[in-house]
Amino acid sequence: MTVTEVSARLGISGQTTEARARLLERTPRWRRASALKELARWLLAPVVFFIPPHLPWVLLVLGLGAFRAFGRRREHRTLLWLHGPCPRCGTVQEFAELGRLRDPHMAQCASCRWSVRAEVARRVVG
Ligand SMILES: [Zn+2]
Repeated sequence: MTVTEVSARLGISGQTTEARARLLERTPRWRRASALKELARWLLAPVVFFIPPHLPWVLLVLGLGAFRAFGRRREHRTLLWLHGPCPRCGTVQEFAELGRLRDPHMAQCASCRWSVRAEVARRVVG
């Protein structure tokens, strides 16, 4: 696993600023293994069945396992760090919305609370 630092662009309705992001490129092997670990939650289904009201807990465990496994299968890149100025208020900050890099990836400014669209470069820069 290699952490790479790439350039990113933060935008709100036409206004953009430059930012930096650290990413972790996920291999197909990692995604497959991680999804299987999430599906292992299904093993809890027979245990939670004994907690009243029985069926909702089983459905919750099965649904949560499937949902998280699906997310891991789609996690090609993980956003570890996003740092830059908000395009609206200019506050330089580290954004808290990390995890699976979505397209588009949305983050929220801690100062003005506007949703910021983060576009992260595909290739490694510098
Ligand atoms: Zn802001």
